[in-house]
Amino acid sequence: MRLLRGDLHHHTHHSDGAESVAEAARRCRAQGYDFLAVTDHDTGAAWREAAQVSGLTLMPGVEVTTFHGHALALGTWGPVEWRDLGRGDAPRLFGRIRAAGGLAAVAHPFFVGGSVCAGCAWDFADWEGADAVEVWHGPDPQERPHNRAALRRWEELLTAGERPVPLGVRDWHGGGEAGEEWASTWVYAAGAALSDVVEALRRGRVFVSVGPRLVLTGEGDLLPGDEAAGEVALRLAYLGGWPGTVELRLVGPQGPWAGRRVRGRGLLEHRWCAAPGEWCRGEVAVGERLLAFTHPVFGPA
Ligand SMILES: [Zn+2]
Ligand SMILES: [Zn+2]
Repeated sequence: MRLLRGDLHHHTHHSDGAESVAEAARRCRAQGYDFLAVTDHDTGAAWREAAQVSGLTLMPGVEVTTFHGHALALGTWGPVEWRDLGRGDAPRLFGRIRAAGGLAAVAHPFFVGGSVCAGCAWDFADWEGADAVEVWHGPDPQERPHNRAALRRWEELLTAGERPVPLGVRDWHGGGEAGEEWASTWVYAAGAALSDVVEALRRGRVFVSVGPRLVLTGEGDLLPGDEAAGEVALRLAYLGGWPGTVELRLVGPQGPWAGRRVRGRGLLEHRWCAAPGEWCRGEVAVGERLLAFTHPVFGPA
């Protein structure tokens, strides 16, 4: 199993981004990313200059930019028609993205917008059926109200029986300020090929982080996105990536199941009685400041 770091929401000069595909790919590789999804607004034109950069897996994508909110189509260059969709048509939008061969992700659902994003918030009536949700979006993600609202909504969806995979994205258009923190989406993948990364996303082998690296496993080869049959021993390994002491926690619908403080690297183990409809995710925090979180292991459906 390989731990790979990615950015899944990225614009180029094929829409309103500042760079070519090759420039974006080289910069992301230099910044330590292993994979990059190019997601221009309503066009897959970037495929024409899809760049080969050693050590970086390039993923096709489109940001479907509708009147009622934005959705990422990950793993496909589209096209995805949206002009006929009304507020009640989110399931049709997700269906079209999947029919085009992509994963459907709700983008920045509570973002009120800014200079590069108008009509950004999710105004569709439904969320059900999305493959993924952007939980952390933009710089300093854990400080921003639209991400706190997205985290709460994501947990409500999990408790309601939905299993959308959380994403942490930059929504990069260019620039960026020194000292800002940015979230990445990490996957536990069998290899670095595009098909390996897409499969890991599809199965929910994911954590979102501004730095710390986490591996959540359970007995019987359980990984995030899997279902536990009943009582199960879970292990949350912290592999570093943050200075000083951090708090490792296993968290469920009612709050932490278990926690401990570690420094450098560390392990939290917990026997979890997986009740139907429950879930358990890992996280690392400093005080109330969340730094990283995993997709959950789920109780029986
Ligand atoms: Zn957008
Ligand atoms: Zn965007």
